[in-house]
Amino acid sequence: MYSMIRRKLTVTVCAAGLGVAGAIVLAQEGGGPQQPWSKFKVHDMTRPQPPIVTPGTFSTPDQPGKPPSDAIVLFDGKDMNHWQAKGGGDPTFTLQDGVMLSTNLQDPSNNKYLQSKDQFGDVQLHVEWSEPTPPKGDSQGRGNSGVFMMGLFETQVLDNYQNPTYPDGACGGIYGQYPPLVNVCRPPGEWQTYDIIFTTPRYQDGKMTEPAYITTLQNGVIIQNHQRIEGPTGHMIVAHYPDTMLEKGPIELQFHGNPVRYRNIWVRPLEALEKQQQTGEVAAPAAPETK
Ligand code: MG
Repeated sequence: MYSMIRRKLTVTVCAAGLGVAGAIVLAQEGGGPQQPWSKFKVHDMTRPQPPIVTPGTFSTPDQPGKPPSDAIVLFDGKDMNHWQAKGGGDPTFTLQDGVMLSTNLQDPSNNKYLQSKDQFGDVQLHVEWSEPTPPKGDSQGRGNSGVFMMGLFETQVLDNYQNPTYPDGACGGIYGQYPPLVNVCRPPGEWQTYDIIFTTPRYQDGKMTEPAYITTLQNGVIIQNHQRIEGPTGHMIVAHYPDTMLEKGPIELQFHGNPVRYRNIWVRPLEALEKQQQTGEVAAPAAPETK
């Protein structure tokens, strides 16, 4: 008798509290209504679980942090095996005391940009750099380098600490297009970070259908918020998109004659993860294409 009353009570309580209890039951039994934007139902337990990633650690002034577990480490201070001169050949930067110096001490006449051997599309990229101290030169001549996505789109690297320049060429600017939202530069000699989230331009039937977008945090502060990129960057040009573009390209670091130091560079390709998120097709571990 007591158990019958309890069962009745349970049913009544469940029915009354359908918002919470019902959601749990539906989730356990395969989900609620169909999502029109995916092949899954709302709260669908058959949808693949997101891959597990062990987070890294933050850097300190003295010590580079650890990358997340699924990152491709492009530079950890030991060698430049992931890099080549733009277009091929030995790296043009100099490996010195666990950092890469953006100047060629072995062959000063060889001043090509440094290029990753791997090709990338949509990525999360982490880069750390430190400007020469004491500072030399001014405006664009002080500590100039750059981080190029797909070898085409430059995020400016510059010693912009108490050193004004044209704003669309400021540190963190999309060169010649958009200044950073704020100037969050540290003084020369201190380590700084870029965390860049980049999506490639999309092309269909020979036409650009979506421009590239970039979100950038410098030293943990957002300086580009899902900013549209107007086309490949360049000096004194009005950017526009070409008729065709490869789907992937290298990450490049600019050789501009100033000895900027780089450390702790890692990248996470996002396409496979985005595909799993959107279609449920399980992401394989990140594997870059090497040219
Ligand atoms: Mg530059």
